[in-house]
Amino acid sequence: MMIRRHAIAFAAALAVLFATAPAPAQEKVRVLATFSILGDFVKNVGGDRVEVSTLVGPNSDAHVYSPAPADAKRVAAAKVVITNGLGFEGWMARLVKASGTKASPVVATKGIKPRKQQDAHGHAGHSHDSTDPHAWQSVANAKIYVANILAALIAADPAGKAAYEANAKAYLAKLDALDKDVREAVAAIPKDRRRIITSHDAFGYFQAAYGIEFIAPQGVSTESEPSAQDVARIIRQIKQQKIPAVFLENVTDPRLIQRIAAETGARVGGQLYSDALTDEKGAAPTYIDMIRHNVKQLAAALGTS
Ligand SMILES: [Zn+2]
Repeated sequence: MMIRRHAIAFAAALAVLFATAPAPAQEKVRVLATFSILGDFVKNVGGDRVEVSTLVGPNSDAHVYSPAPADAKRVAAAKVVITNGLGFEGWMARLVKASGTKASPVVATKGIKPRKQQDAHGHAGHSHDSTDPHAWQSVANAKIYVANILAALIAADPAGKAAYEANAKAYLAKLDALDKDVREAVAAIPKDRRRIITSHDAFGYFQAAYGIEFIAPQGVSTESEPSAQDVARIIRQIKQQKIPAVFLENVTDPRLIQRIAAETGARVGGQLYSDALTDEKGAAPTYIDMIRHNVKQLAAALGTS
């Protein structure tokens, strides 16, 4: 009798427990993005159905990243792996191989027309074309990243299709507004002042989309140092063309730009965010913040003589 009564009480307690416990949380889709800007795109499309992490964190340079052994485990554990492609993450193929993952990484720049940059060296017989990976610097391209990420998330989690589509739609509308604001800000800068210097050639897509010319002593990657001739050429160009401002970047060594500023009298216009976001406390914790910050800096340095 006692046992039976206990059993009934226990069953009743269980019933109460299950009735009041929240529905089991839906397991989030684990997405690994190679760097912070991609991670932000994934967050915006994935919303609360995904858990996003990045290999290369805020204010870090993905060109020269060297993966840690733990990164292979993170790649293996992710359901979706998102890369920029266009040669940005030269270390990624080896990492994917080491991880043993069967999922092939999604290339977020698929469908974007790559910009070819001829190396700045300029000595005859020595120049070669490199692909510019910084496609995100044009907001129109960012919309293609979003479309590719949307397709990848739906493929990995078909039940989330409607949610992902709604998130993407809302985010794309914000990107459209951003693109319009960038155009308006650039239009307000006098045409003959739309020219600046940065450390590495990260703004070619921005230049093509919005018409500010960026000149850099270092090429489309930060892997190699600029030569003395490259730096001397830039210094001559700044003086001849009266280029008003030089800019630092959050992922490159500031000393080169500081030296160029000192030798030419060009003013340091501030810091641009090229290849990485900042952390939450910084000026550019999201892609939209990053573009707005950069444009504000450019407008302030170039807007008035
Ligand atoms: Zn770069």
